[in-house]
Amino acid sequence: MQVRGLTKTFPVATSLLERWRGGPRRAVQALTDVHLSVRRGETLGIVGESGCGKSTLARCLVRLYDPDEGSVRYGGEEVTALRGAALRAYNRRVQMIFQDPYSSLNPRMSVGQVLREALSVHRMRPPAEQEARVQELLTLVGLPQSAAGRLPHEFSGGQRQRIGIARALALEPECLIADELVSALDVSVQAQVVNLLLELQERLDLTVLFVAHDLRLVQHLSHRVAVMYLGRVVEVADTAQVFGAPRHPYTQALLAAAPSLDPARRTAAPALQGELPSPLNIPSGCAFRTRCPQAFARCAEERPALQPLPEGGEVACHLYSPVTSGAAPGQLDKVTP
Ligand code: SF4
Repeated sequence: MQVRGLTKTFPVATSLLERWRGGPRRAVQALTDVHLSVRRGETLGIVGESGCGKSTLARCLVRLYDPDEGSVRYGGEEVTALRGAALRAYNRRVQMIFQDPYSSLNPRMSVGQVLREALSVHRMRPPAEQEARVQELLTLVGLPQSAAGRLPHEFSGGQRQRIGIARALALEPECLIADELVSALDVSVQAQVVNLLLELQERLDLTVLFVAHDLRLVQHLSHRVAVMYLGRVVEVADTAQVFGAPRHPYTQALLAAAPSLDPARRTAAPALQGELPSPLNIPSGCAFRTRCPQAFARCAEERPALQPLPEGGEVACHLYSPVTSGAAPGQLDKVTP
């Protein structure tokens, strides 16, 4: 999957008085010029504080939202242009699993009915073979065969996530997009669901996009990690590189805020300072400049683009980009918000 220049805004409702006064239409800038690629069979972790746009990105990738600009290509096909049967076929190949599967499960349908419905609607199996497939799916996600006859409310949070995963797997997808899959679960249950996902990924050769704010989980699961801040990807690299030698000041601050038990991985970078700016009013230039301890004049004037690093990975920060004008990296004249 290749994402290029993806941008998404949401208009903000304005009062009648504001409209009458002719005030400007306001919009939340949820994604700005996002570039990303996901390789077949890998797990890409997408991480950032809440409100950084990671869930909006996930929803754009499965076309729950239509982006304002940019391109998403999957297997060479332009996803943003898909309509009708072609879009349904894409949605079968790329499945999303949500944080709360309970809200998307019909409370009056047994788990068996939910899975059979998925198999029938997408014509995955003829009716005579559906029962056997339901049993197969339950085994695959570690639920007992008796689960087929029970209603969603009879299951715990972790078991419901397993039902959600089974429903996604019923369509034999190539790619799973897991949006905050385990954030509502207890830590011990989180580990079980995450391990299940790892096992399934390897066994079924799935491509996984794992969207989460928990760095621990992302580190455990992902081959590569993309770090997002205020709707932009600021760093993307192999997991070992992001966690072992983070380059972007925001990644360094995120890691400093979640210290590792491993002394070798501790970072001396200061933890995050200040509040996350409103997505209605994103700072000019680098969106992180109002919280960045290394900001300099150029950061307010020019938005840093993702640049490849010599050691691999990419980073969007003027400390690593060629100087085009004005102040140079190292001129640490801190910019006021
Ligand atoms: Fe900090 Fe400037 Fe880099 Fe942004 S571009 S992260 S403000 S040094």
